[in-house]
Amino acid sequence: MDRAAARRKPLSLIATFVLSAAAFAQAPAAAPPSAKDEAIPSLRDAAVIVLRHARVIDGTGAPVRENQSLLIEGGKIRVVENDDAVKVPENAQTLDMSGKSVLPGLVMLHEHLMFTEPIGLTHAVDFSFPRLYLAFGVTTMRTAGTDFPQMELNLKRRIDAGSMPGPEIFITSPYFSGEGDPFLGAMIMKTPEEARRAVRFWGGEGFTWFKAYQWIPKDVLAALIDEAHHLGLRVTAHLRSVSCHDAAEMGIDNIEHGCFPSTDKLEDDLNGPRTRDLVSTLVQKGVVLTATPTNGRKPFSDFALEMLDPSARERISSEIARLKSPPPATAGDAIDSSYAHLLNAFAKAGGRLVLGSDAGGGGTVLAGTGDDDAIENMVRMGFPPLQVIRIATLEGARFLGVEGRTGSIAAGKEADLLVVRGNPVEHISDIENVEMVFSNGIAYDPKTLIAKVKGEVGWR
Ligand SMILES: [Zn+2]
Repeated sequence: MDRAAARRKPLSLIATFVLSAAAFAQAPAAAPPSAKDEAIPSLRDAAVIVLRHARVIDGTGAPVRENQSLLIEGGKIRVVENDDAVKVPENAQTLDMSGKSVLPGLVMLHEHLMFTEPIGLTHAVDFSFPRLYLAFGVTTMRTAGTDFPQMELNLKRRIDAGSMPGPEIFITSPYFSGEGDPFLGAMIMKTPEEARRAVRFWGGEGFTWFKAYQWIPKDVLAALIDEAHHLGLRVTAHLRSVSCHDAAEMGIDNIEHGCFPSTDKLEDDLNGPRTRDLVSTLVQKGVVLTATPTNGRKPFSDFALEMLDPSARERISSEIARLKSPPPATAGDAIDSSYAHLLNAFAKAGGRLVLGSDAGGGGTVLAGTGDDDAIENMVRMGFPPLQVIRIATLEGARFLGVEGRTGSIAAGKEADLLVVRGNPVEHISDIENVEMVFSNGIAYDPKTLIAKVKGEVGWR
């Protein structure tokens, strides 16, 4: 380019900008984006929806009820009764649910809105993951640590405002960690005052949960818990540098993944006095454990490969090939027996469990399908299906403090519902057969949501 051309270039850029700005100003105002744009068209404007002949699994652990009708109006469940006790209003859209089960929308407590490729590259997945969670029936979720806090805060607000589909999100802070943490998104804390300052900052921004991570020093964790509790906010952790026992004594609210036997050096004491002491301390202190029985080292499913962005698939192709013959699962990764043993012992002693998928937290677990895996693996670990469904719905809602409005099927609650073919109480894998999902009474077809994010996971 000669000098004259170089001088002209900025002028022509300005001219282009002015022209396009003028064109933009004259364009008719587009309708603001709405979650309803992606809802089932025939149900989008229904004043009343009645689900007839449904099998209801209400989330409380109560026995399955057949031949039920649910009347949905104004985003709420107005009536849930035997078919013959429900008069269908004239203006209602009626759906025949024969052969299908209606469950509360899932309430999942260890979710992510980022996707860490097995090679360690982390992306925000604000477009694909909310839709995938919703497509598999997750209508309420809590994140469990993030590298993209501001994105998650804004995304939560956008979903709350009804301008995009997705679960209601409870957001958790970035990782409070310590020296040695290899993840570049973590806050490396050395002193208690750093933790207190960060708690006040993120708490002031609207974060209601804090996440401590594997390298956090003990005095920093104590300060984090103390400062959060002063603000009426709560703390959870993936522990390693501090034992479960010590974190429980400090008053931590929640522990992610459960307690690994190695963190408390219990590998040789699983039926012994130190394990019993840990379990009773956790129960006495009211610490809730989040089970995450998914396996991040299992091969990518065909479904997951279809969802992946082609460039991500290319980058991790050697990993995809290697995972076809995965190494044996390690503690906490899946249904590892010592992991299952501790969770069972905790639940038998009266401990409260919630459930999460750890989708996107590294490895091969995807939003939605990972939540189904977590549910199915709980049943494989010996928990009865009705109890697992309660843990994945009402127990999660209780822990988040929203059980008055969601988490079970009852008149007056939000119409957050998961409709599946079959009966997951008899065959837990039927939880995967999602036909329809309601979020605040808005009906979604999972196929539509999934089609929208095909090939997107790994870049947005
Ligand atoms: Zn995680």
